[in-house]
Amino acid sequence: MSLPAGIKWTEAETAFDRDHLWHPYSSMAQPAQVWPVARAEGVRLYLEDGRVLLDGMSSWWSAIHGYQHPQLDAALQSQISQMSHVMFGGLTHQPAVELGRRLVALTPPSLDQVFIADSGSVSVEVALKMAVQYQQARGLKEKTKVAALLGGYHGDTLGAMSVCDPQQGMHRLFRAGLPEQVFVPRPSLAYGEVWQEEALAPLEQLLQNQHHQLAALILEPVVQGAGGMYFYHPEYLRQARWLCDAYDVLLIADEIATGFGRTGHLFACEMAGIEPDLMCVGKALTGGYMTLAATLTRRDIALTISQGEAGGLMHGPTFMANPLACRVACASLDLLLENDWAQQVAGLEAGLKAGLAPLVGHPAVAQVRVLGGIGVVQMHQPVEMARLQPACVEAGIWIRPFNRLIYMMPPYVMSAGDLTQLTASLVQVIEQVYAPTASAVATAP
Ligand SMILES: *Cc1c(COP(=O)(O)O)cnc(C)c1O
Repeated sequence: MSLPAGIKWTEAETAFDRDHLWHPYSSMAQPAQVWPVARAEGVRLYLEDGRVLLDGMSSWWSAIHGYQHPQLDAALQSQISQMSHVMFGGLTHQPAVELGRRLVALTPPSLDQVFIADSGSVSVEVALKMAVQYQQARGLKEKTKVAALLGGYHGDTLGAMSVCDPQQGMHRLFRAGLPEQVFVPRPSLAYGEVWQEEALAPLEQLLQNQHHQLAALILEPVVQGAGGMYFYHPEYLRQARWLCDAYDVLLIADEIATGFGRTGHLFACEMAGIEPDLMCVGKALTGGYMTLAATLTRRDIALTISQGEAGGLMHGPTFMANPLACRVACASLDLLLENDWAQQVAGLEAGLKAGLAPLVGHPAVAQVRVLGGIGVVQMHQPVEMARLQPACVEAGIWIRPFNRLIYMMPPYVMSAGDLTQLTASLVQVIEQVYAPTASAVATAP
């Protein structure tokens, strides 16, 4: 029922899309193939051509309860009949208050001041501005820069880009025009390795040398997502917290990908038993229904910002705290708790480990790693998207690899049977595409 009756997806729609619509990180000169989706339900995407795909991506970490969930649909429908939007300047409403209550209750106890933002990148911008305004308000005018980890990813807007990996990241060509930040190598010890104090030395040195100009350290706790799907040792995070305190630098945890249970912990910071000074959440916040994010901080930080020269936080988007988005976020968070997310994610972890195990030792595969509901197959060479993605669609699964990484983070509600099918199909595709004979055929003239 996605389109009015009588309107069909034809070659004309495909052509218009190709000729006029940007897709994420896309080329208009050589548009990559895209697959038209007619509708989505549960853990399945129904393509316009009638094919059905098992969803391995949760629409980029977000659709954790699956598509067209009756409770989420109902929440939106009832909110539409009240109001879809009103400005948040000078007005407020129940959906915002209810969302704020839930976020304050779920996130670490010290974080109780909520800025509701319109996307993950915006919540990162807000966190960076909060950090700088906080230091300014304390009279520490030199503390204007932010430290970040190489291999990190924090979003696509200019401020967020400035703390993404400047060498390897997708934003490197903007480098010259961005605020200049400082970087430290990504944590050398992976999740599961034996902790060694030396792993902390680069961060310690950086803070020691540059703390006077640092407002904050921003990092993705334990799981670096779009910058490399790398899982690092939680002890690094615990010690980073300690170092930030020692050098009077705020710690910003970007939990936009990791938040709401994806790692097997409600927030990845819990793996290190720490509380950040600022925290960004997004992605799964609305269960994948609408764009929404939030930046949380402590009351003392909020008060200091508010007592500074500006007299408040200098940010306020037009669609701040959109009631529809807040309402569906409330319903999604309620569902998360009702559904026993911990058990769901533990089930995903077991299924991903078992299902991806056949790829361990495959000559094209460098490493297979699984943490919570995240399964990563790291290849030796960059993935040939134009071959792998159609092969996956042909096999009835939806995943979206980048660079050397073939990864999945299925919806929490995926059944064991569907997960087995998803991983088995991926294994089959990789074995096919990377079979010695197949590559010989592909490279033939
Ligand atoms: C996706 C992501 C962002 C950006 O969120 P958008 O909603 O795409 O702007 C920021 N940080 C992390 C860790 C992310 O995974």
